[in-house]
Amino acid sequence: MSRAFGELIRIFSGLSKPIQLHEPEFSGAEKEYVLDCLNTGWVSSVGAYVDQFEDDLKSYTDCHAVLTVNGTAALHLCLYLAGVQSGEEVLMPSLTFVATANAVRYCGAVPHFVDCEQNSFGVDADKLRTYLENNVFQLEKKGVRHAVTGKLIRVLIVTHIFGHPAQMDKLVALANDFNLILIEDAAEGMGSFYDGQHVGGFGVLSALSFNGNKILTTGGGGAVLCRDSELSRRAKHISTTAKIPDPYTYIHDELGFNYRMPNINAALGCAQLEQLPSRLVKKRRLASFYKDFFDQYEDVMFVNEPVKTRANYWLNTAILESEVIRNEAIDMLAGNQIFVRGVWKLMHQLKMFSEYPHMPDMSVSEDVSARSLNLPSSAFLADSLGI
Ligand SMILES: *Cc1c(COP(=O)(O)O)cnc(C)c1O
Repeated sequence: MSRAFGELIRIFSGLSKPIQLHEPEFSGAEKEYVLDCLNTGWVSSVGAYVDQFEDDLKSYTDCHAVLTVNGTAALHLCLYLAGVQSGEEVLMPSLTFVATANAVRYCGAVPHFVDCEQNSFGVDADKLRTYLENNVFQLEKKGVRHAVTGKLIRVLIVTHIFGHPAQMDKLVALANDFNLILIEDAAEGMGSFYDGQHVGGFGVLSALSFNGNKILTTGGGGAVLCRDSELSRRAKHISTTAKIPDPYTYIHDELGFNYRMPNINAALGCAQLEQLPSRLVKKRRLASFYKDFFDQYEDVMFVNEPVKTRANYWLNTAILESEVIRNEAIDMLAGNQIFVRGVWKLMHQLKMFSEYPHMPDMSVSEDVSARSLNLPSSAFLADSLGI
Protein backbone atom coordinates (compact mmCIF):
# COMPACT_ATOMS: atom_id res chain seq x y z
CA MET A 1 0.00 0.00 0.00
CA SER A 2 1.36 3.37 -1.03
CA ARG A 3 2.33 5.78 1.73
CA ALA A 4 0.53 8.40 -0.37
CA PHE A 5 -2.89 7.51 1.02
CA GLY A 6 -1.88 7.79 4.69
CA GLU A 7 -0.54 11.23 3.89
CA LEU A 8 -3.71 12.14 1.95
CA ILE A 9 -5.83 11.14 4.97
CA ARG A 10 -3.66 13.43 7.11
CA ILE A 11 -4.11 16.34 4.67
CA PHE A 12 -7.90 15.79 4.60
CA SER A 13 -8.12 15.37 8.39
CA GLY A 14 -9.05 18.99 9.05
CA LEU A 15 -11.99 18.99 6.62
CA SER A 16 -15.60 18.30 7.55
CA LYS A 17 -16.55 14.67 6.92
CA PRO A 18 -17.72 12.63 5.16
CA ILE A 19 -15.90 13.61 1.99
CA GLN A 20 -17.73 12.29 -1.06
CA LEU A 21 -16.44 11.61 -4.54
CA HIS A 22 -18.39 14.50 -6.01
CA GLU A 23 -21.05 16.64 -4.39
CA PRO A 24 -23.54 18.97 -6.07
CA GLU A 25 -23.12 22.67 -5.22
CA PHE A 26 -25.87 25.29 -5.28
CA SER A 27 -24.19 28.58 -4.50
CA GLY A 28 -25.70 30.80 -7.19
CA ALA A 29 -29.18 31.83 -8.32
CA GLU A 30 -30.69 28.32 -8.03
CA LYS A 31 -33.25 29.16 -5.32
CA GLU A 32 -34.31 32.37 -7.02
CA TYR A 33 -34.88 30.73 -10.41
CA VAL A 34 -36.66 27.63 -9.03
CA LEU A 35 -38.90 29.81 -6.87
CA ASP A 36 -39.72 31.83 -9.98
CA CYS A 37 -40.97 28.60 -11.63
CA LEU A 38 -43.17 27.83 -8.63
CA ASN A 39 -44.51 31.37 -8.40
CA THR A 40 -45.36 31.58 -12.08
CA GLY A 41 -46.63 27.99 -12.41
CA TRP A 42 -44.21 27.20 -15.24
CA VAL A 43 -42.90 23.96 -13.74
CA SER A 44 -43.25 21.47 -16.58
CA SER A 45 -41.82 20.83 -20.01
CA VAL A 46 -42.46 24.27 -21.50
CA GLY A 47 -41.07 27.49 -20.08
CA ALA A 48 -38.63 30.35 -20.33
CA TYR A 49 -35.82 28.53 -18.47
CA VAL A 50 -35.89 25.65 -20.96
CA ASP A 51 -35.35 28.11 -23.81
CA GLN A 52 -32.81 30.11 -21.81
CA PHE A 53 -30.73 27.08 -20.80
CA GLU A 54 -30.69 25.85 -24.41
CA ASP A 55 -29.50 29.28 -25.60
CA ASP A 56 -26.85 29.44 -22.86
CA LEU A 57 -25.59 25.96 -23.73
CA LYS A 58 -25.46 26.94 -27.39
CA SER A 59 -23.29 29.98 -26.61
CA TYR A 60 -21.00 27.93 -24.41
CA THR A 61 -20.57 24.86 -26.63
CA ASP A 62 -21.09 26.38 -30.08
CA CYS A 63 -23.62 23.60 -30.81
CA HIS A 64 -27.41 23.52 -30.96
CA ALA A 65 -28.72 22.10 -27.69
CA VAL A 66 -31.97 20.22 -27.02
CA LEU A 67 -32.68 19.54 -23.35
CA THR A 68 -33.76 16.08 -22.18
CA VAL A 69 -34.85 14.43 -18.94
CA ASN A 70 -31.46 12.78 -18.49
CA GLY A 71 -28.26 11.86 -20.29
CA THR A 72 -29.45 8.36 -21.07
CA ALA A 73 -32.49 9.74 -22.91
CA ALA A 74 -30.16 12.11 -24.78
CA LEU A 75 -28.01 9.16 -25.86
CA HIS A 76 -31.09 7.22 -26.92
CA LEU A 77 -32.25 10.20 -29.01
CA CYS A 78 -28.80 10.50 -30.65
CA LEU A 79 -28.89 6.85 -31.70
CA TYR A 80 -32.53 7.02 -32.76
CA LEU A 81 -31.83 10.10 -34.91
CA ALA A 82 -28.81 8.35 -36.41
CA GLY A 83 -31.26 5.66 -37.48
CA VAL A 84 -29.76 2.85 -35.41
CA GLN A 85 -31.99 -0.22 -35.69
CA SER A 86 -32.17 -3.81 -34.59
CA GLY A 87 -29.92 -6.03 -36.62
CA GLU A 88 -27.04 -3.55 -36.46
CA GLU A 89 -23.91 -3.45 -34.35
CA VAL A 90 -22.64 -0.18 -32.86
CA LEU A 91 -18.94 0.34 -32.11
CA MET A 92 -18.47 1.69 -28.59
CA PRO A 93 -15.95 1.61 -25.74
CA SER A 94 -16.11 -1.09 -23.11
CA LEU A 95 -14.77 1.43 -20.60
CA THR A 96 -17.82 3.65 -20.13
CA PHE A 97 -20.93 4.00 -17.99
CA VAL A 98 -23.61 1.37 -18.58
CA ALA A 99 -26.01 3.95 -20.09
CA THR A 100 -23.97 4.07 -23.33
CA ALA A 101 -24.53 0.36 -23.96
CA ASN A 102 -28.11 0.43 -22.66
CA ALA A 103 -29.03 3.12 -25.19
CA VAL A 104 -27.71 0.92 -28.01
CA ARG A 105 -29.90 -1.93 -26.76
CA TYR A 106 -32.97 0.36 -26.52
CA CYS A 107 -32.69 0.65 -30.33
CA GLY A 108 -32.53 -3.13 -30.60
CA ALA A 109 -28.94 -2.93 -31.85
CA VAL A 110 -25.98 -4.77 -30.36
CA PRO A 111 -22.86 -3.11 -28.94
CA HIS A 112 -19.49 -4.09 -30.40
CA PHE A 113 -16.95 -3.18 -27.74
CA VAL A 114 -13.54 -1.68 -28.48
CA ASP A 115 -10.46 -0.92 -26.37
CA CYS A 116 -9.36 2.46 -25.00
CA GLU A 117 -5.97 4.16 -24.95
CA GLN A 118 -3.79 4.96 -21.99
CA ASN A 119 -3.77 8.79 -21.99
CA SER A 120 -7.36 9.91 -22.38
CA PHE A 121 -9.04 6.55 -21.59
CA GLY A 122 -11.05 7.25 -24.74
CA VAL A 123 -11.46 4.92 -27.71
CA ASP A 124 -8.01 4.05 -29.15
CA ALA A 125 -8.32 5.32 -32.74
CA ASP A 126 -5.12 3.61 -33.98
CA LYS A 127 -6.07 0.27 -32.52
CA LEU A 128 -9.62 0.54 -33.87
CA ARG A 129 -8.29 1.43 -37.35
CA THR A 130 -6.06 -1.65 -37.38
CA TYR A 131 -9.01 -3.74 -36.20
CA LEU A 132 -11.32 -2.40 -38.93
CA GLU A 133 -8.66 -2.86 -41.62
CA ASN A 134 -8.53 -6.50 -40.68
CA ASN A 135 -10.36 -8.72 -43.16
CA VAL A 136 -13.14 -9.41 -40.66
CA PHE A 137 -14.73 -6.13 -41.82
CA GLN A 138 -15.87 -5.07 -45.28
CA LEU A 139 -16.24 -1.42 -46.16
CA GLU A 140 -19.72 -0.46 -47.35
CA LYS A 141 -21.33 2.82 -48.41
CA LYS A 142 -22.92 3.22 -45.00
CA GLY A 143 -20.30 1.87 -42.64
CA VAL A 144 -18.65 -1.52 -42.39
CA ARG A 145 -20.02 -5.04 -42.33
CA HIS A 146 -18.84 -7.44 -39.65
CA ALA A 147 -18.19 -10.66 -41.57
CA VAL A 148 -18.46 -12.87 -38.48
CA THR A 149 -22.00 -11.82 -37.58
CA GLY A 150 -23.00 -10.45 -41.02
CA LYS A 151 -24.23 -7.29 -39.31
CA LEU A 152 -23.85 -3.73 -40.54
CA ILE A 153 -22.01 -1.21 -38.35
CA ARG A 154 -22.94 2.42 -39.13
CA VAL A 155 -22.21 4.20 -35.86
CA LEU A 156 -19.19 4.75 -33.61
CA ILE A 157 -19.78 6.11 -30.10
CA VAL A 158 -16.88 7.62 -28.17
CA THR A 159 -16.95 8.67 -24.50
CA HIS A 160 -14.98 11.50 -22.89
CA ILE A 161 -14.03 9.66 -19.72
CA PHE A 162 -14.07 11.65 -16.45
CA GLY A 163 -13.98 14.83 -18.57
CA HIS A 164 -10.79 13.99 -20.51
CA PRO A 165 -11.52 14.55 -24.20
CA ALA A 166 -10.83 11.53 -26.41
CA GLN A 167 -8.43 11.87 -29.41
CA MET A 168 -10.96 13.61 -31.61
CA ASP A 169 -8.68 14.37 -34.62
CA LYS A 170 -7.96 10.71 -35.12
CA LEU A 171 -11.48 9.55 -34.30
CA VAL A 172 -13.12 11.99 -36.74
CA ALA A 173 -10.70 10.86 -39.49
CA LEU A 174 -11.41 7.22 -38.67
CA ALA A 175 -15.18 7.77 -38.80
CA ASN A 176 -14.79 9.48 -42.21
CA ASP A 177 -12.59 6.74 -43.64
CA PHE A 178 -15.01 3.99 -42.64
CA ASN A 179 -18.24 5.89 -43.42
CA LEU A 180 -19.29 5.80 -39.78
CA ILE A 181 -21.59 8.27 -38.03
CA LEU A 182 -19.72 9.60 -34.99
CA ILE A 183 -21.66 10.09 -31.75
CA GLU A 184 -20.02 11.52 -28.63
CA ASP A 185 -21.09 10.46 -25.17
CA ALA A 186 -20.07 13.80 -23.65
CA ALA A 187 -22.06 13.16 -20.46
CA GLU A 188 -18.98 13.83 -18.33
CA GLY A 189 -17.52 16.53 -20.55
CA MET A 190 -19.37 19.78 -19.81
CA GLY A 191 -16.60 22.40 -19.79
CA SER A 192 -14.01 20.21 -21.58
CA PHE A 193 -12.38 21.28 -24.83
CA TYR A 194 -10.40 19.52 -27.53
CA ASP A 195 -8.25 21.80 -29.68
CA GLY A 196 -10.38 24.80 -28.67
CA GLN A 197 -13.74 23.20 -29.50
CA HIS A 198 -16.12 22.11 -26.74
CA VAL A 199 -16.65 18.35 -26.69
CA GLY A 200 -19.84 17.32 -28.42
CA GLY A 201 -18.98 19.49 -31.41
CA PHE A 202 -17.11 16.78 -33.31
CA GLY A 203 -19.75 14.09 -33.66
CA VAL A 204 -22.88 14.31 -35.77
CA LEU A 205 -24.80 14.07 -32.48
CA SER A 206 -23.69 14.15 -28.86
CA ALA A 207 -25.14 13.72 -25.37
CA LEU A 208 -24.56 15.71 -22.18
CA SER A 209 -25.71 14.74 -18.68
CA PHE A 210 -26.72 16.97 -15.76
CA ASN A 211 -27.21 14.17 -13.26
CA GLY A 212 -26.54 14.94 -9.59
CA ASN A 213 -22.98 13.62 -9.70
CA LYS A 214 -21.87 15.55 -12.79
CA ILE A 215 -19.98 18.88 -12.91
CA LEU A 216 -23.28 20.75 -13.40
CA THR A 217 -26.58 19.36 -12.22
CA THR A 218 -30.26 20.00 -12.89
CA GLY A 219 -31.25 17.24 -10.47
CA GLY A 220 -31.74 14.95 -13.44
CA GLY A 221 -31.21 16.12 -16.98
CA GLY A 222 -29.31 15.96 -20.19
CA ALA A 223 -29.02 17.48 -23.64
CA VAL A 224 -28.51 16.48 -27.23
CA LEU A 225 -25.86 18.62 -28.94
CA CYS A 226 -25.47 18.89 -32.69
CA ARG A 227 -24.07 21.28 -35.29
CA ASP A 228 -26.88 20.85 -37.79
CA SER A 229 -29.90 23.07 -37.09
CA GLU A 230 -32.31 20.79 -39.00
CA LEU A 231 -31.18 17.81 -36.92
CA SER A 232 -31.65 19.80 -33.71
CA ARG A 233 -35.20 20.70 -34.78
CA ARG A 234 -35.89 17.00 -35.30
CA ALA A 235 -34.39 16.17 -31.91
CA LYS A 236 -36.69 18.69 -30.27
CA HIS A 237 -39.70 17.41 -32.19
CA ILE A 238 -39.33 13.75 -31.31
CA SER A 239 -38.35 14.53 -27.70
CA THR A 240 -41.71 16.31 -27.28
CA THR A 241 -43.96 13.45 -28.46
CA ALA A 242 -43.72 14.69 -32.09
CA LYS A 243 -46.62 17.07 -31.45
CA ILE A 244 -47.48 19.54 -34.20
CA PRO A 245 -49.20 22.88 -33.49
CA ASP A 246 -52.97 22.83 -33.91
CA PRO A 247 -55.52 25.22 -32.36
CA TYR A 248 -58.22 22.57 -31.79
CA THR A 249 -56.74 19.23 -30.97
CA TYR A 250 -53.61 17.18 -30.29
CA ILE A 251 -51.85 15.85 -33.36
CA HIS A 252 -48.61 13.87 -33.46
CA ASP A 253 -46.99 13.19 -36.82
CA GLU A 254 -44.57 10.37 -35.97
CA LEU A 255 -43.44 8.14 -33.13
CA GLY A 256 -42.12 10.40 -30.40
CA PHE A 257 -40.75 10.35 -26.88
CA ASN A 258 -41.61 12.26 -23.70
CA TYR A 259 -37.97 13.18 -23.09
CA ARG A 260 -38.17 16.96 -22.58
CA MET A 261 -36.50 18.52 -19.52
CA PRO A 262 -39.01 20.30 -17.24
CA ASN A 263 -38.67 24.06 -16.74
CA ILE A 264 -37.98 23.61 -13.01
CA ASN A 265 -34.87 21.54 -13.81
CA ALA A 266 -33.80 23.95 -16.55
CA ALA A 267 -34.01 26.77 -13.97
CA LEU A 268 -31.37 24.91 -11.95
CA GLY A 269 -29.35 24.48 -15.13
CA CYS A 270 -29.32 28.23 -15.91
CA ALA A 271 -28.05 28.97 -12.41
CA GLN A 272 -25.48 26.16 -12.53
CA LEU A 273 -24.07 27.19 -15.91
CA GLU A 274 -23.46 30.71 -14.60
CA GLN A 275 -21.08 29.14 -12.08
CA LEU A 276 -19.24 26.88 -14.53
CA PRO A 277 -16.28 29.22 -15.22
CA SER A 278 -15.45 29.66 -11.52
CA ARG A 279 -16.07 25.98 -10.86
CA LEU A 280 -13.62 25.03 -13.61
CA VAL A 281 -10.94 27.25 -12.05
CA LYS A 282 -11.37 25.48 -8.70
CA LYS A 283 -11.35 22.08 -10.43
CA ARG A 284 -7.98 22.92 -12.01
CA ARG A 285 -6.56 24.07 -8.67
CA LEU A 286 -7.63 20.77 -7.10
CA ALA A 287 -6.20 18.76 -10.02
CA SER A 288 -2.88 20.54 -9.81
CA PHE A 289 -2.78 19.89 -6.05
CA TYR A 290 -3.30 16.15 -6.68
CA LYS A 291 -0.73 16.17 -9.49
CA ASP A 292 1.98 17.76 -7.33
CA PHE A 293 1.04 15.52 -4.42
CA PHE A 294 1.22 12.22 -6.34
CA ASP A 295 4.39 13.30 -8.19
CA GLN A 296 6.14 12.62 -4.88
CA TYR A 297 5.19 8.94 -4.99
CA GLU A 298 6.62 6.51 -7.52
CA ASP A 299 3.87 3.95 -7.02
CA VAL A 300 0.90 6.18 -7.88
CA MET A 301 0.34 7.91 -11.22
CA PHE A 302 -1.99 10.90 -11.49
CA VAL A 303 -3.96 11.19 -14.75
CA ASN A 304 -3.20 14.50 -16.47
CA GLU A 305 -5.17 16.07 -19.29
CA PRO A 306 -3.92 14.75 -22.64
CA VAL A 307 -2.15 17.07 -25.15
CA LYS A 308 -4.42 19.37 -27.20
CA THR A 309 -7.13 19.12 -24.55
CA ARG A 310 -8.46 21.26 -21.76
CA ALA A 311 -10.20 18.89 -19.35
CA ASN A 312 -12.89 19.91 -16.88
CA TYR A 313 -11.28 17.53 -14.33
CA TRP A 314 -14.77 16.40 -13.38
CA LEU A 315 -13.20 13.46 -11.55
CA ASN A 316 -9.51 13.26 -10.64
CA THR A 317 -8.05 9.84 -11.25
CA ALA A 318 -4.97 8.02 -9.97
CA ILE A 319 -3.55 4.72 -11.24
CA LEU A 320 -2.26 2.38 -8.56
CA GLU A 321 0.06 -0.62 -8.84
CA SER A 322 -2.57 -3.37 -8.75
CA GLU A 323 -6.26 -4.01 -8.22
CA VAL A 324 -5.56 -5.41 -4.73
CA ILE A 325 -3.67 -2.26 -3.74
CA ARG A 326 -6.41 -0.10 -5.28
CA ASN A 327 -9.08 -1.88 -3.24
CA GLU A 328 -7.00 -1.57 -0.06
CA ALA A 329 -6.76 2.18 -0.68
CA ILE A 330 -10.57 2.41 -1.08
CA ASP A 331 -11.05 0.56 2.24
CA MET A 332 -8.46 2.64 4.07
CA LEU A 333 -9.94 5.94 2.87
CA ALA A 334 -13.51 4.79 3.61
CA GLY A 335 -12.37 3.97 7.15
CA ASN A 336 -11.55 7.67 7.44
CA GLN A 337 -14.85 8.88 5.99
CA ILE A 338 -13.29 9.62 2.59
CA PHE A 339 -15.37 7.88 -0.03
CA VAL A 340 -13.62 7.13 -3.30
CA ARG A 341 -14.36 4.64 -6.04
CA GLY A 342 -12.76 2.51 -8.70
CA VAL A 343 -14.09 2.84 -12.22
CA TRP A 344 -16.88 0.82 -13.84
CA LYS A 345 -16.72 -2.88 -14.43
CA LEU A 346 -16.17 -3.17 -18.17
CA MET A 347 -19.23 -3.47 -20.39
CA HIS A 348 -18.05 -6.65 -22.14
CA GLN A 349 -17.73 -8.27 -18.70
CA LEU A 350 -21.27 -7.43 -17.55
CA LYS A 351 -23.56 -10.44 -17.67
CA MET A 352 -26.19 -8.91 -19.96
CA PHE A 353 -23.62 -7.78 -22.55
CA SER A 354 -21.12 -10.64 -22.30
CA GLU A 355 -22.38 -12.39 -25.45
CA TYR A 356 -21.82 -9.37 -27.68
CA PRO A 357 -18.76 -8.95 -29.89
CA HIS A 358 -15.59 -7.20 -28.74
CA MET A 359 -12.02 -6.73 -29.93
CA PRO A 360 -9.92 -9.74 -28.98
CA ASP A 361 -7.45 -7.49 -27.17
CA MET A 362 -9.13 -5.36 -24.49
CA SER A 363 -6.00 -5.17 -22.35
CA VAL A 364 -5.80 -1.40 -21.81
CA SER A 365 -9.44 -1.16 -20.68
CA GLU A 366 -8.93 -4.15 -18.41
CA ASP A 367 -5.85 -2.59 -16.87
CA VAL A 368 -7.43 0.85 -16.39
CA SER A 369 -10.59 -0.68 -14.94
CA ALA A 370 -8.59 -2.75 -12.45
CA ARG A 371 -6.08 -0.19 -11.19
CA SER A 372 -7.66 3.23 -11.32
CA LEU A 373 -9.12 5.15 -8.44
CA ASN A 374 -11.29 8.25 -8.61
CA LEU A 375 -10.42 10.79 -5.91
CA PRO A 376 -12.66 13.28 -4.07
CA SER A 377 -13.23 15.91 -6.76
CA SER A 378 -15.85 18.43 -5.58
CA ALA A 379 -14.75 21.91 -6.67
CA PHE A 380 -15.25 23.36 -3.17
CA LEU A 381 -12.42 21.14 -1.87
CA ALA A 382 -9.96 23.58 -3.49
CA ASP A 383 -11.18 26.23 -1.03
CA SER A 384 -11.46 23.84 1.94
CA LEU A 385 -7.87 22.73 1.43
CA GLY A 386 -6.70 26.30 0.95
CA ILE A 387 -4.87 25.44 -2.29
C1 LIG B 1 -23.77 10.03 -16.38
C2 LIG B 1 -23.45 9.34 -17.65
C3 LIG B 1 -24.44 8.96 -18.57
C4 LIG B 1 -25.91 9.02 -18.31
O1 LIG B 1 -26.41 10.17 -17.84
P1 LIG B 1 -27.74 10.18 -16.90
O2 LIG B 1 -28.06 11.63 -16.89
O3 LIG B 1 -27.33 9.63 -15.58
O4 LIG B 1 -28.77 9.36 -17.58
C5 LIG B 1 -24.04 8.40 -19.77
N1 LIG B 1 -22.75 8.19 -20.05
C6 LIG B 1 -21.77 8.52 -19.20
C7 LIG B 1 -20.36 8.27 -19.60
C8 LIG B 1 -22.09 9.09 -17.96
O5 LIG B 1 -21.11 9.36 -17.09
